[in-house]
Amino acid sequence: MDTKKRIDQLSTELLRHQYLYNVKNEPEISDLEYDRLFDELLNLEEQNPQYASENSPTKRVGSDLDNTFPEKEHTIPVLSLDKEYTGEGLEKWVAKTMGKAGKNIGFVVEEKIDGASIVLYYKMGRLDNALTRGNGLVGNDVTENIRTIKQIPLITGETSDFAVRGEIFISKSDFENYNRKFENRYSNPRNLAAGSLRNIKSSVVAQIPMNILVYEGYFRENTANDHISILRRLKDLNFKINPNTAFFCADSESVSLTKNKFPEIATGSIDELSAYVKERMKTRETLDYDIDGLVIKINEIDVRENLGYTSHHPRWATAFKFDAPTAQTIVENIRIQVGRNGRVTPVATLKPVRIAGSTVSRATLHNQEYIEILELGTGDRVDISKRGDIIPAVDKVIDKNSENPSVFKFPGTCPFCLSVLIKDGAHHFCKNRECPERIKRSIIYFVAKDQMDIDTIGKKTIDFLFSKGFIKNIPDIYKFNYDRLLQEEGYKEKKVENIKKSIEKSKTQPFSRVLAALGFDGLGKAAVSDLIKNGFDSIDKIISAAAKRDIEIFSDIEGFGETTARLLIDHFNDRENLEKIEELKKIGLNFKEEARVETGIPAVFAGQLWVITGSFENFNPRSKAAKEIEKRGGRVSTSVSSKTTHLLSGSSPGSKLEKARKQKSAIINEAQFSDMLK
Ligand SMILES: [Zn+2]
Repeated sequence: MDTKKRIDQLSTELLRHQYLYNVKNEPEISDLEYDRLFDELLNLEEQNPQYASENSPTKRVGSDLDNTFPEKEHTIPVLSLDKEYTGEGLEKWVAKTMGKAGKNIGFVVEEKIDGASIVLYYKMGRLDNALTRGNGLVGNDVTENIRTIKQIPLITGETSDFAVRGEIFISKSDFENYNRKFENRYSNPRNLAAGSLRNIKSSVVAQIPMNILVYEGYFRENTANDHISILRRLKDLNFKINPNTAFFCADSESVSLTKNKFPEIATGSIDELSAYVKERMKTRETLDYDIDGLVIKINEIDVRENLGYTSHHPRWATAFKFDAPTAQTIVENIRIQVGRNGRVTPVATLKPVRIAGSTVSRATLHNQEYIEILELGTGDRVDISKRGDIIPAVDKVIDKNSENPSVFKFPGTCPFCLSVLIKDGAHHFCKNRECPERIKRSIIYFVAKDQMDIDTIGKKTIDFLFSKGFIKNIPDIYKFNYDRLLQEEGYKEKKVENIKKSIEKSKTQPFSRVLAALGFDGLGKAAVSDLIKNGFDSIDKIISAAAKRDIEIFSDIEGFGETTARLLIDHFNDRENLEKIEELKKIGLNFKEEARVETGIPAVFAGQLWVITGSFENFNPRSKAAKEIEKRGGRVSTSVSSKTTHLLSGSSPGSKLEKARKQKSAIINEAQFSDMLK
């Protein structure tokens, strides 16, 4: 046999054994036999360097030449993922994404391994180069070091070009063994893995027990239309795929198809996704590698392309992070905030710190009890965390202020009006309705985007108008002569004109917005919408119902308890409130819900609470069915409860059908539903 042929043969054979040993854990030959073949190849390559390939199995041992890591451009999109921190947030994301897709789609759940991200580029099936993530557009070429990782196939059975994304990591047990040799020099497996990728000597890297799991493939040819098929293909090319991967879909046929394609992974109906995520959260500690969350992505490639990308993230995937992002900083001050309804909230002013990509300088402290549990005082060093979009919270005190260790004491009186604070439940309240801070807050709330949307007067402007005494209450917003502002610094004609315009425009806001904007306790957007749906579609109807002081009139409304009913009766019997409403009415605000022009439709579903499940031929996405129900006065909720009156059940309804049967809700199929709409 000629030398070149023997070199190729040995290479192929040795790479296969490396794969069997390192990826499959099923060696076919003894170590001794392996070493014999390896030495033969090494010898032949030394004598015939012209035949030695870059992807030879001998390259796994690395070289002593200094590596450089030139920058190279990525040719596939290497974006980071958007993040969810709560199960609720994740469920919302799944529901929203399904709605956008407009059809039954599959979701693949994968572990988010805490390692170093890598993109492997293959040319004609052979590893050509490996780039770090870098800034997503350009990464560092770390190919020589990557070649030493024995779980990465250097030569594959593929003949075309493709790219693979994966995570390089070190298992916890390997890390411990390795780190012990170096007197625990490294702080964690992730740092060692990320650092090793940039080690200048690949011979050193070869000694580090690095591993890889891959999770995305980009093929030039024969592109499959679903992620599971791509994973299957990668696995068939000897890549290591994480077996802790799962597939969920509302369509049972799609589930069994996936099961056939990839029997190693877990599958289930879409209703089981949340439970699976919770379970993975609990069992993460039992893994021999670190994960910091899960990745949930759409299976269908065409849907992914349709949804596309924001400037930072794909819209078709999200990361569910187990831990909220945290940071450490100093509490510089603790201030008391009083809300429009009098509730007192302590707020920590922080030394600004970066957390989850934004600078944070304030954190909520909830109430007095919370401060006492933390034993928090000014000057303390603290851990803060950010969950979802809410403002960050102080989690714990790391170091007390050494010069003046103290625990913050709540003041006895409102710092704005000096009236005595009253504890009601977990919170303190300023009960003074004339409290200037409360009034100012109610004005800020009234004009905000979600309410009357008077966007030309923000918090700063109101602070100014209020401090000057130009505006003392909500009706003053409409009564003040804004031309007066032309005498003030910073108010040019154009600006004043814009303020006047947007205030005038706000008069066209519908009754539902006006009522919610008044900010009465217990009367948020959802409650207002329920009131209107239940026939209380004008302020006069509400006021005359409240005048009867009969709690049941309001507590009968679905979703209203006795507390809300009592609050309504109080609000709409209060003389000051009634005067304020009368004043705003005269100004021209809407206090009656306009009958919607398009609906001459009778409210045949009034008082009914529907849940929609499964998929439909004519109501795709399901929000179409929801709209029909709402148009006819019904309400739609996402989960079955004892209050559910109707379940609209399409094909593959899942567990909701069972639940609805138990609750004795009426089960309606698509044909029946269509009849009901006629
Ligand atoms: Zn006050």
